[in-house]
Amino acid sequence: MDRREFSKSMLVLGAGLKAGLASGKSSDAATEPAEYFEEKPKKLPVRKFDVVVAGGGTAGLFAAIAAGRQGARTMLIESKGYCGGIAVEGGTALHSFYNLYTAFPACQKRKVVRGIPAEFMDRLTGMGGCTGYPEMETGRDYDSICTAIDTELYKLLAFRMTKEAGVFVAVNTWLADAILDHRRIRGVITESRSGREAVMAESFVDCTGYGDLSAHAGAEYTVPNDYDSCNSFGLANASLDDYFKFLQSHGAVGQVCRGPRSGEENKLVRVGAEQLDIPGLTEEAKKIGMSMITTSVRDNYLMYIKCNYRIPGSIVNRDDVALAEIEIRERMARGAELLLQHVPGFGKAFIARTSPSLCIRRGRLVSCDYDITHEDVIDGRHFDDDAFVYGFHDSAPRFQIKGGGTYGIPYRALCVKGVENLYAAGMMITSDQRAHMSTRNTVSCMAQGQAAGTAAALCAARKCGTRGLAYADLREALERGGVYFES
Ligand SMILES: Cc1cc2nc3c(=O)[nH]c(=O)nc-3n(C[C@H](O)[C@H](O)[C@H](O)COP(=O)(O)OP(=O)(O)OC[C@H]3O[C@@H](n4cnc5c(N)ncnc54)[C@H](O)[C@@H]3O)c2cc1C
Repeated sequence: MDRREFSKSMLVLGAGLKAGLASGKSSDAATEPAEYFEEKPKKLPVRKFDVVVAGGGTAGLFAAIAAGRQGARTMLIESKGYCGGIAVEGGTALHSFYNLYTAFPACQKRKVVRGIPAEFMDRLTGMGGCTGYPEMETGRDYDSICTAIDTELYKLLAFRMTKEAGVFVAVNTWLADAILDHRRIRGVITESRSGREAVMAESFVDCTGYGDLSAHAGAEYTVPNDYDSCNSFGLANASLDDYFKFLQSHGAVGQVCRGPRSGEENKLVRVGAEQLDIPGLTEEAKKIGMSMITTSVRDNYLMYIKCNYRIPGSIVNRDDVALAEIEIRERMARGAELLLQHVPGFGKAFIARTSPSLCIRRGRLVSCDYDITHEDVIDGRHFDDDAFVYGFHDSAPRFQIKGGGTYGIPYRALCVKGVENLYAAGMMITSDQRAHMSTRNTVSCMAQGQAAGTAAALCAARKCGTRGLAYADLREALERGGVYFES
């Protein structure tokens, strides 16, 4: 939706923020239209909840479970047919439940993200769908442990746990608009095969990754377009052991971790290349942005191989994204071809899975009451309103959190500026890319989700906005929910 359409829809609904409050810089519009068609106002069926979570991905899943467990009538709106988001579509390992204790021998090993995300991993491990927390053998100055997952069991458990928490899960449902009353969201408009509906609630959490709800609510945002996008494929009939032997034969073994795989302990679960210099492969892999690191919890399957691509246009422009989808699909096909050609034992390998749609590292950057800085992260700062603590940095060892410790994500960093009852959780927060290289990782997004979902439920029960919630109440609820704090 472009800015003109956005204003128009607010008029149609008869409510909304004043024009000019939104300050998105990039064009969200697809090709510039030659003419317009004015939609007629429609009477929509209304549903009522306490909390609405938009986006059932990495952060949203945990936001919804947390809100449901607080007793809030919670609706989770997810455009795909499952929950899990980029955690099950893009990545390799979930970074990270632990501090970087392997790089700082003097510091104490500790599980710093606990609560619902850790409970989820324990259950997934019990189902054979997660490695748990085996220690890295090499690459110990990057992450201490490797938590790799089975994407399909993850999706199944996501449904089980949302159901147990009493969440109303609307999959295959698109968050299409917001119903506003000045600076407060009254409800959202959803779109599905059952038609459009108005969903009213007290509190809202934007976990769409793209900041769709924040943008509809007139929040401030920018579109930095500052990362490569990336889809991944799963390669079947290809074993991690063969890949490891291949790298070993070229003196190019990088990160390695062993853990449970297909029910057996101490098997390779993460293997990466370092200083790979193979004629016909290294240069070709670079051309398609193929990352030579992978994880798996299954025999004969490389769960994720990533192909990166920097979109020449904008991540929120439909037509630019469509071109990127085509380009990355070509890249993935070429990537598989290269691996089949070069790695002994991969001759009968084939692509068994691809990302369902473009995986992004950052879409809209939504302005919140506090913006976490690079210094906050690397100096390991904590705040009076920490919502959880975190200890991983994706740029390690270049940037590490001081002494292998943690920093705090303050509650204010989740409160969307200029909107009374909206939280943002996931990759949408943190403007400084160096700091974002930490906050955007999966386990941080999950913990943000638990914090925002818990807070939204408390606000709904107290009928207050995000700024009216007493930190002591939130802290108590988070601690009861198993969240770990360092001060
Ligand atoms: C390719 C790639 C590889 C990565 N590798 C790693 C890694 O190895 N380890 C790591 O820790 N991190 C990794 N990251 C980072 C991390 O995975 C992401 O930053 C994180 O998962 C983002 O979580 P999120 O909840 O913000 O977004 P998402 O997980 O994308 O969730 C957003 C959800 O909202 C839904 N949605 C969007 N718009 C709407 C709408 N309008 N209506 C309804 N639903 C909507 C989407 O379908 C999606 O399910 C990687 C990221 C990428 C892109």
